[in-house]
Amino acid sequence: EREQLKAMAGLASVTRDGAAITLHANLELPRELDGARDGGAGGIGLLRTEFLYMNRDDLPGEEEQYEVLRDLVIAMEGRPVTARTLDVGGEKLAGALADRFATPANPALGLRAIRLGLKEPKLLEAQLAAMLRASAHGPLRILVPMISQPSEMRRVRELLRAVARRLVRRGHAIADPLPPLGAMIEIPGAALAADSLASVSDFFAIGTNDLIQYTLAIDRGDEQVAYLYDPLHPAVLRLVQFAVDAARRAKIPVSVCGEMAGDARYAALLLGLGVRELSMAPAHLPLVKRRVRGLDLGEATRRADMIMGQTDGDRIAALLDDFNEALG
Ligand code: PEP
Ligand code: MG
Repeated sequence: EREQLKAMAGLASVTRDGAAITLHANLELPRELDGARDGGAGGIGLLRTEFLYMNRDDLPGEEEQYEVLRDLVIAMEGRPVTARTLDVGGEKLAGALADRFATPANPALGLRAIRLGLKEPKLLEAQLAAMLRASAHGPLRILVPMISQPSEMRRVRELLRAVARRLVRRGHAIADPLPPLGAMIEIPGAALAADSLASVSDFFAIGTNDLIQYTLAIDRGDEQVAYLYDPLHPAVLRLVQFAVDAARRAKIPVSVCGEMAGDARYAALLLGLGVRELSMAPAHLPLVKRRVRGLDLGEATRRADMIMGQTDGDRIAALLDDFNEALG
């Protein structure tokens, strides 16, 4: 069985009826890159850059960030790398930043992620500069976490263009055209207004970890309420569907990069909802690929339609179990 799964890395990620499904890896640390390559990842769908800021008293500069990103882009040999801007704040404010901001009463709802980046533009500019310079070495996409409004995307894009002009003046090579700029869809309001965000975004990445947390008001780290943390809650599925449909109408790519994407059981449903790109922890790649290869997309779409017609969470889970059993 393990050998079989290992052999998966070399096989194409296509459904039985011939649809190509992109399977990417989520990385939290550069050293996970080997696992991603062993797993046959078609790219990095989510590079969490928080590691650059952790366990230190100072902030990483542009040069240091550039070198790390450049090495990753080069190591991926032409496969895309999706670098996310800093996603800290609230309870996980990095050491060098912790002193500068008041501890919020509701960290999950406070000054975090892109809100922090736009409040401290120097911080965000250094990140964007490093990403732009790394984009000269291979395909790179820039992903913005915790977007709630189109105005945030517009401001990030303005900053990105300003930083790009500055880099070019300084004689640095950067990708031309500029790298795609994408929004994480992980706030319920962002999912419900995904059509307005699609007009200012080059791609979407749906972050189901936070989307579930905020939709169901369940702290994703709180064991006491973990039993209510349900990816199959109809509210969650409807938000995912809405965001996927908005992306399709706007003709921009959409991926799912929360833990849900790395669970073969849910992956079948996500494909049925129209998702064609999944990004997951490297260890999950083989099992999800096996599910992709065993699945007929027409059948998955029919099953997903049936599931989306349900209002009862238990019924949804039962239908999905049927679906996965049929896949074996
Ligand atoms: C998510 O929220 O689903 C996500 C992928 O981002 P993170 O887990 O880093 O918050
Ligand atoms: Mg998130």
